Amino acid sequence: MIHRPRKRFGQNFLQDSVYQQRIANSIHLREGAKCIEIGPGQGAITEHLLKRFGQLEVIEMDRDLVTLLEQKYPGGALHIHQGDVLRMDFQELAQGQRLSIIGNLPYNISSPLLFKLIDALSLVDEMVFMLQKEVVYRITAGPGSKTYGRMSVTAGLWLHSEKLFDVPPGAFFPAPRVMSSVVRLVPRNDVDAGLDRSLFDSIVKAAFAKRRKTIRNALSEWFDEAQLLELGIDPQQRAEQLDIDAYLSLAGSAAASAGRGH
Ligand code: SAM
Repeated sequence: MIHRPRKRFGQNFLQDSVYQQRIANSIHLREGAKCIEIGPGQGAITEHLLKRFGQLEVIEMDRDLVTLLEQKYPGGALHIHQGDVLRMDFQELAQGQRLSIIGNLPYNISSPLLFKLIDALSLVDEMVFMLQKEVVYRITAGPGSKTYGRMSVTAGLWLHSEKLFDVPPGAFFPAPRVMSSVVRLVPRNDVDAGLDRSLFDSIVKAAFAKRRKTIRNALSEWFDEAQLLELGIDPQQRAEQLDIDAYLSLAGSAAASAGRGH
């Protein structure tokens, strides 16, 4: 069966077997954990993962590709979940096991998917993803750089990220217009359990929603100038100048004020 790549599903199939193998080799699987591949497509990486691990679970939205994979891998080694990964319940998928998650991700859903996975991080040992190079820059960026934003702060708080290698457009069919990079993401184990996650997220979101404004203006719902100064934060700075620790102290202070009934 010939499958015509569908743009709406972000289908750029990885053709180059050297990169297929390299990506599949980049993920670790701990004893008792299971590997899940997001968007297996025609099986470019799947093939190598099955060889390494013997069995694999995959999440694929395109029904035609699910049919193709069922024909290609009969016999039960490949367990296919047909559906939208953004609607999947990872707790249910895990079935009590730890997860190593891998995928050449459809670029149109990479940001919402990363935020969703960060919410499911307590189940995860490791993730290896191919993303647009620019998204990997955003994940790994530090304060002061142009690409530093909400994704950098959220990813930096929850994940150790390591860029592994670039993959050029010519390795795919159809060739995407941009360069891709493979990144390894490992959950950090040093996040304060008392952190109010939704408050932290709201503050970071508000700060970067108005990234050209001063932090005093962007966060006026929570803080006045004196409170910012008390936290050691210059009220004239902009969102992109504050590091993760500054956002953590903002969230901690807002939570304490809320607790006091302010
Ligand atoms: N892994 C294959 C490869 O490397 O050649 C395919 C990668 S292609 C960039 C992305 C894959 O994700 C496609 O197979 C596409 O159908 C699938 N996909 C797109 N959106 C999805 C979604 N929301 N949930 C699950 N799979 C999705």
